Amino acid sequence: MTFELGVDLCGLAPIERFADAPKGFNPKDIYSKTESILVFAKRLPITILFAESCIPYTQANSLVTAEVDRIALSLSLRLENKGIANVLIPSDDPYESWNEKKKHGQAILSLRHAAVFAGLGKLGKNNLLINDMFGNMLQFGAILIAQSFECDEIAEYAVCPESCSICLQSCPVNALDGTSVNQKACRPLSNFKNAKGYVLKKCWACRKVCPNAAGIYRSDMKNLQ
Ligand code: SF4
Ligand code: SF4
Repeated sequence: MTFELGVDLCGLAPIERFADAPKGFNPKDIYSKTESILVFAKRLPITILFAESCIPYTQANSLVTAEVDRIALSLSLRLENKGIANVLIPSDDPYESWNEKKKHGQAILSLRHAAVFAGLGKLGKNNLLINDMFGNMLQFGAILIAQSFECDEIAEYAVCPESCSICLQSCPVNALDGTSVNQKACRPLSNFKNAKGYVLKKCWACRKVCPNAAGIYRSDMKNLQ
């Protein structure tokens, strides 16, 4: 059903894998009947990483986020039509948790972690999920489902060589420490508001420099880099 709607990747995680989620951000805190979590992704075009202007990257991100949200709504309705109770999760905004002092926002569910639990890849030191076939050029969506299903295995491949830290060194504001992003440092570049009021993504260096940006095994895609 998900691939019919145009998703590039999908997987299922059982609720038990979220046992260590912070209080308030566990799927059960969002929808108490959750038994399994469907996580899916649409890929972004890779060549935008190499454009000199920030507009193509900003536009592609905005479009794919809207597309993932549209797919989540369609999936949710289709599951309901089959009698399966479910709740959709936004791909990005909105969220309620915001620390003004730290300029730190927290989505109701970490889709990167949900994607790991659903077998879609592993987290890199740049804090992005890396999938073996699609690299880090993915936008995620999720549906919380009130039913248990046979779920996917967690990915076993390695994504970051121990000696690699190119993404950390490439961040112009030192916002990365290998496990988290300092949003206060990153936000002025990744969500830059121009004089016209447009919010532009002025930096994507940590995504671009990763040798696995296009996927671990995709030599065909690597030609685009
Ligand atoms: S988007 Fe830019 S500023 Fe933000 S963490 Fe990545 S490299 Fe650093
Ligand atoms: S640049 Fe290197 S350390 Fe950073 S995410 Fe990619 S493989 Fe991992």
